[in-house]
Amino acid sequence: MAIRVGVNGYGTIGKRVADAVAMQKDMKLVGVTAHSYSFNTEVAKQKGYKIFTVSDDNDLKSNGIKPDGNIKNLLEEVDLIVDATPRKIGKENIEKLYKLKKVKAIVQGGEKHEITGTSFVAQCNYNEALNKDYVRVVSCNTTALCRTLDAVNKKYGIASVHATMIRRGADPWDIYHGPINAIVPVLEMPSHHGPDVQSVLHKVEIFTSALSVPSTLMHLHTLTVDLKKKTTVNDVIETFKKSTRIRIVRNAEHLRSTAEIMEFARDMGRLRGDMPEICVWQEAIGITSNAHNKLLYMQAVHQESDVIPENVDCIRAMMGFKDARKSIEMTNKTFGIK
Ligand code: NAD
Repeated sequence: MAIRVGVNGYGTIGKRVADAVAMQKDMKLVGVTAHSYSFNTEVAKQKGYKIFTVSDDNDLKSNGIKPDGNIKNLLEEVDLIVDATPRKIGKENIEKLYKLKKVKAIVQGGEKHEITGTSFVAQCNYNEALNKDYVRVVSCNTTALCRTLDAVNKKYGIASVHATMIRRGADPWDIYHGPINAIVPVLEMPSHHGPDVQSVLHKVEIFTSALSVPSTLMHLHTLTVDLKKKTTVNDVIETFKKSTRIRIVRNAEHLRSTAEIMEFARDMGRLRGDMPEICVWQEAIGITSNAHNKLLYMQAVHQESDVIPENVDCIRAMMGFKDARKSIEMTNKTFGIK
């Protein structure tokens, strides 16, 4: 029987998770919530998704949308809810809604690790989410760091990492955040990303710093990794190519910036022009030949979409599907990820 899934919080992440769930043969999207009326609700209606309210005080009816029920009705019909509400609301929802209705729930990276005790990136720690009731899919930046660092760690062993996150100021639709003319450092050391990576890659020593720039397209990370084993640039390229959800991009393809990567994703016909793979620039991989044996690389992260396949695999793991590799393959196929 198909896994019955609902999505609470139908914004940047929620609408993508809903479409991804609807594409899986072993899942059924029961419905999504609408906090208030917007173009998102209009598109959900066009797609034939059932729409549930989260409060009586909403403007759906006055905009011609007849809801299919409220959040409690939705919870009665699902095996699992994916919560993609703004940060801190997921925590409240677990306590006030999901536990009461005895429904399994995934929360997103805006919530703290302690809320679920299990943080998830499929290719790193799928088994930790098996049969769990509450799991957090980590943030876009943490997902990206975990994917490539896990590949490096499995092959060469990591002594320590320093990474800097150059973060997009806002998502493309977002007219409320910035900066629009500044580079803004995060004034805490380490930034929260380092400890967050350790919630998935428990033994990796990592120190992170971060800043925001006036761009909406993608994040860009620069990493310096002290390796335990010596290697070559070509071997690292092969390691990334063999790992799932990582894409090597090249100067020769004219993929020299986040803008060109996003254009490439649109040209490939990806839904919404998304790029869920982490893109590592081939020419920006370097190895120092001194005793420390440092690996340096740069990667681009499509913040709106890299966590979406993770949510799909997390659903399967929490519902007891044991084969991580098979789940990742099934999910990748629906996203067109090779
Ligand atoms: P968003 O603002 O785009 O979407 C949130 C949606 O939830 C909106 O549609 C809003 O109307 C709705 N909402 C607000 N309050 C609600 C409530 N009480 N009940 C139900 N719905 C409610 O936010 P987002 O970017 O999709 O972020 C959601 C979560 O995903 C956060 O934890 C965030 O940190 C995480 N995340 C975001 C990104 C990103 O780049 N946007 C990437 C990875 C993870």
